[in-house]
Amino acid sequence: MNWSAMSSGRMWAELAPYASHPARSRGRRVWEPAASDRNHFQRDRDRIVHSTAFRRLVYKTQVFLNHEGDLFRTRLTHSLEVAQLARSMARGLALHEDLVEALALAHDLGHTPFGHAGQDVLNACMKPYGGFEHNLQSLRVVDVLEQRYPDFDGLNLCFETREGILKHCPMRVARHIEALEPHGVAHRFIQGLQPSLEAQLCNLADEIAYNAHDVDDGVRSGLISLEQLLQVPLVLRFHEETEQAHPGLARQGGRRLLSEVLRRMLSSQVHDLMAQTRERLSRAQPANDQQARVGTPLVAFSPAMRAGITELKRFLFRALYRHPQVVATTRRAQGVVRDLFAAYTDFPGELPTEYAQRPDLPRAVCDYIAGMTDRFALREHHRLTGQRVFV
Ligand code: MG
Repeated sequence: MNWSAMSSGRMWAELAPYASHPARSRGRRVWEPAASDRNHFQRDRDRIVHSTAFRRLVYKTQVFLNHEGDLFRTRLTHSLEVAQLARSMARGLALHEDLVEALALAHDLGHTPFGHAGQDVLNACMKPYGGFEHNLQSLRVVDVLEQRYPDFDGLNLCFETREGILKHCPMRVARHIEALEPHGVAHRFIQGLQPSLEAQLCNLADEIAYNAHDVDDGVRSGLISLEQLLQVPLVLRFHEETEQAHPGLARQGGRRLLSEVLRRMLSSQVHDLMAQTRERLSRAQPANDQQARVGTPLVAFSPAMRAGITELKRFLFRALYRHPQVVATTRRAQGVVRDLFAAYTDFPGELPTEYAQRPDLPRAVCDYIAGMTDRFALREHHRLTGQRVFV
C-alpha cells in the first residue's frame, strides 16, 4: 500500500476531490512525526476519545439533567449519535469519515454542566473578562486545557480538526484569534469562507440528531405528548406514513409508534441532505477542498426540508425548552453555577492548586467550572455552601 492510500485510511480514488485529505493537512501546532499506522485525522479522533473532557460528557446534561433519568440523552450519547450520522453521510458523499468522526466527538467538549443554563450564567459571570462561549471553550479544551502529553498543552490536533471545532466566532473574537495565530483557525471568518465540507456536514448531523432525540426524550419525560407533536407538519407527515404502513400500531401502545415516526423523520432528513448536497456539488463542481469553501454552504437541506425543520425547532423551543418544569430546573441549575463562581473567586484556596495558582483567576475559575460534570458541580456546591440542590 502506498503512503497516500495509508494516510487517507482508504484508497485515494474513494475520496472526492473536494474532501479534506490528511496528506494535505496543514499540520499540528507542535510538530510530531506521522504515525505509521493511522492517518492524521484518525489520530485526532483517538486523542479525543482518550481525553478527560470526552469521558466527562457522560455526566453532562443535554436537555434533561443527568439525575432526571437514565434513559435520556447525555452529551456523550448525543455526540455518539452525531458521529454515527456524520460518518454514514460522509461515506455516501465520499468525504473524509475520520475527520467528521473527530469533529462529531469533539463538538460538545466545551459544554458546561447543566447544558445551556450553565453556559448562560458563566457567560454573565465572565462578562468583564471576555465572556464564555461553549464552542470557543471546545477549542480551548483541545488546545490548552487537556494536560496529557509531556511536550505540549492540549491534544495538539491537526489544523483541520481545530478549525472544524470552531463552528461560530464573532468578528471581535476572530480578530483576536487571528492576531495570536495569523492565517489560523479564525481566518475563514475574516475572509467570509465556509468551513470544510466535513465540518459543514457535522454541523447538520448535530441538528438532525438533537431534533430527533429531543422529541424522543421530551415525550419520554411526559413534558410533550404525541398529540401536541402532530401540530408540527414534519412529524404529522411521518405519523401518517407510519399509520398507513402499520395500521394498528397506535392501538398497541408502547413506544414503537413514536420510534417509527422518528426513524422515518430522521432518515428523510439524511436522504434530503445527501440529495441536496449532491446537487449543489454537481452544480458548483469544486476542484478541491479549498474551492468547496467559497460561496454559500454546499452541504445543506433542501429549502422545503429546512422550512420543516425550522417549524419543528420552534415547536421544541416553545413546548419543551421553555416548558415551566424545564425552566424551573434551569433556574436552580443557574443558581448552582453562580454560587460556585462566587465561592471560588472569593476563596481561590478551594480550587485545585493548578487552577488556584493561575494569574488569570476569573478565567481559571471559569475553566474549572466549565469542565465539571453535573453531579460533580452539585457535590462541590454542597461542600462550599452546605445546600443540597436537586435531591
Ligand atoms: Mg451538539
